[in-house]
Amino acid sequence: MAAAARLDLDGNPIKPMTICLIGAGGFIGSHLCEKLMAETPHTVLAVDVYNDKIKHLLDPPPPPPADGAQQARNPWDGRIEFHRLNIKHDSRLEGLIKMSDVTINLAAICTPADYNTRPLDTIYSNFIDALPVVRYCSENNKRLIHFSTCEVYGKTLGSYLPKDHPLRKVHSSGIHSICLEDVVTLSLTNCMIVKESEFYVLKEDASPCIFGSVEKQRWSYACAKQLIERLIYAEGAENGLEYTIVRPFNWIGPRMDFIPGIDGPSEGVPRVLACFSNNLLRREPLKLVDGGQSQRTFVYIKDAIEAVHLMIENPARANGHIFNVGNPNNEVTIKQLAEIMVQVYSKVSGEPPLEAATIDVSSKQFYGEGYDDSDKRIPDMTIINKQLGWNPKTSLWDLLDSTLAYQHRTYAEAVRMAMVKPVAS
Ligand code: NAD
Ligand code: UDP
Repeated sequence: MAAAARLDLDGNPIKPMTICLIGAGGFIGSHLCEKLMAETPHTVLAVDVYNDKIKHLLDPPPPPPADGAQQARNPWDGRIEFHRLNIKHDSRLEGLIKMSDVTINLAAICTPADYNTRPLDTIYSNFIDALPVVRYCSENNKRLIHFSTCEVYGKTLGSYLPKDHPLRKVHSSGIHSICLEDVVTLSLTNCMIVKESEFYVLKEDASPCIFGSVEKQRWSYACAKQLIERLIYAEGAENGLEYTIVRPFNWIGPRMDFIPGIDGPSEGVPRVLACFSNNLLRREPLKLVDGGQSQRTFVYIKDAIEAVHLMIENPARANGHIFNVGNPNNEVTIKQLAEIMVQVYSKVSGEPPLEAATIDVSSKQFYGEGYDDSDKRIPDMTIINKQLGWNPKTSLWDLLDSTLAYQHRTYAEAVRMAMVKPVAS
């Protein structure tokens, strides 16, 4: 019996596509490749300089068994092809984009430790290196899904409220936080009624982008991402480029970044999930930068990938839009994140938590000169909800439970071995 046709959100059949996935070997790319192989008939041209995180999809099937029985084949055999190339300087890129129906660009330097210490590489990677991708898509009438960042919003308007203003206090409410959307309160100017959410909730088509001074090189990344967004938007307006821009809000899960000294450089500083995982694996205190007072909303990678899947298969609803993709219900301060991770890791590893589980460090000590931070990031979900009907599902506790179980399973033994000092003879 023939398989039922796969339908988009408007009931139209979805034709198999060829997708040029740039940055396919990274954290998000690896989950997207898995999803596309397991749940769709699409073909992926996977472009990256590394492929360790998608090796399980690329490896040829094992040799036939000696008894001559039928050899097991990957069901996606032939639908994913790896192209090891650096998009900075490789003439094969345009050919791959021409062969594809849609190009998804994930390639970027996107770890905050690099923004103030390698600002040139950061700006080149996030703006200059993305230019040919946009140009090839535009010149060849190919659809582009470009990954930007929630960091383009920078700091919130609320961060400029006086330190002792009552509006600030409402906001350290943790993961069970109230919905800010409907809270109505008096504004600073005391005669104008404003929605409190306007100070904090980040809306694609309304919120301003507020960065620190040029000396605060932290914003090199956000600024480069904002300029490439503006360029893509202009290509759409002037030359008819079909584009979608994605602004991820702290997507986390297995395979994010690396554990220093195990599958990445010993001195490397990954994003917070991997930093805290590393501390937990080594049984050392989790480092809270400037007291861990910044707030973030974390979304499970598998929920977020579902949103990207909808964008790919619903071009009529996704083209011409900028989408926040995050989970406004999973808001915590970084200090609260650390506390929850300590509890969850103790549960999944069976090890008791350290008595002094966290330690404060200054941002200058941890990241060096020029660091600055986003104070709070709550995504407005109206546009993605209306266009694609997408909502995140997984609670912070549940996503940390499965992610830290993965970290423990994958790294605990390797970390233990690395920490065993050779005994002097
Ligand atoms: P990642 O670092 O895991 O993946 C990026 C991949 O791009 C890496 O595999 C890297 O090797 C590849 N790459 C970089 N430069 C390249 C080049 N010149 N040529 C070929 N390949 C290159 O990062 P990620 O978390 O998967 O993020 C993907 C995208 O999403 C980035 O654009 C990032 O800015 C954006 N983003 C992610 C998050 C998040 O929560 N993970 C948040 C905001 C924005
Ligand atoms: N952070 C921290 N300790 C760490 C790593 C990060 O306190 O070991 C903080 C960092 O200062 C920021 C937040 O955690 O406030 C999130 O950092 P991440 O690197 O994940 O990226 P960001 O959300 O800032 O883009």
